[in-house]
Amino acid sequence: MKEVRATRVSGAPPKRLTERVAVVTGAASGLGRAYAARLSAEGAHVCIADIADASETVRLVEDAGGSGWCADCDVSSQDSVGKFAAQVHDRHGRCDILVNNAGIYPVVPFEDTSFEIWRRVIAINLDGTFLMCKAFLPGMRERGYGRVVNIATTIPWLTVGDFSAYSASKMGVIGLTRALATEYGTHGVTVNAAAPSLVRTATTEAGPQAEMFDAVAQAQAIKRTQQPVDMVGAIAFLASDDAAFLTGQTIVVDGGLVRL
Ligand code: NAD
Repeated sequence: MKEVRATRVSGAPPKRLTERVAVVTGAASGLGRAYAARLSAEGAHVCIADIADASETVRLVEDAGGSGWCADCDVSSQDSVGKFAAQVHDRHGRCDILVNNAGIYPVVPFEDTSFEIWRRVIAINLDGTFLMCKAFLPGMRERGYGRVVNIATTIPWLTVGDFSAYSASKMGVIGLTRALATEYGTHGVTVNAAAPSLVRTATTEAGPQAEMFDAVAQAQAIKRTQQPVDMVGAIAFLASDDAAFLTGQTIVVDGGLVRL
């Protein structure tokens, strides 16, 4: 079927994040790279935490006139996150926006999900979100301003198999999001989650998900495969002052497949 563009994916974005300091995890590639590029295009300084080299993302940000840097950081390690947070504070003195995007999503039937796999998925997806929040939320609270955007997934609402650890980790992220929204709501800090569907990234293209692109697209109201750029408007909105009265929510951005 012919793919139809039903969303705005080009043109200059608004400048809602001028001089904001934004931390984006897992932005060496895929969705995180797109988030970093959009936050930068809206005026934010971007600080990238990734175990992979994110200098290509920094180059893209700088070529587009923005500013950013990256550091080697394993979000599942308290020590590594602590060192990264110290760099952010040394360079900028604060973090205004935190996008917890780093994640892994191995496709494994439950019976083949060893405790090691389970622990690894929970460590990166859920512990990583916890550790980054621990590192940056106290400063946001002190300054009375902050935007946290945690990346979830639509999988828990679908009958998709072989994602037990992943699905559990992301529901944990949603639970943490709701809890933190309550605790920080009176301190100028909002905490939300954004849930993409199946997005075409290098990782999904190389995995078993690639066989699902067409079927998922056909099940959506908007019948084309989701691209990273389809997520960026929602992320920038949640990171902006336009979303000041929105907290504790999970925003589904999936072409109309899941309806919460
Ligand atoms: P990706 O594999 O392209 O990128 C993930 C990034 O996270 C990589 O740069 C990787 O190096 C980094 N990373 C992995 N482990 C890390 C660690 N311990 N510390 C720091 N960085 C680490 O993945 P993607 O497809 O862009 O997905 C990004 C996020 O979006 C993930 O949280 C994923 O669960 C979520 N998501 C993706 C899809 C999809 O279809 N692609 C759908 C729903 C949700």
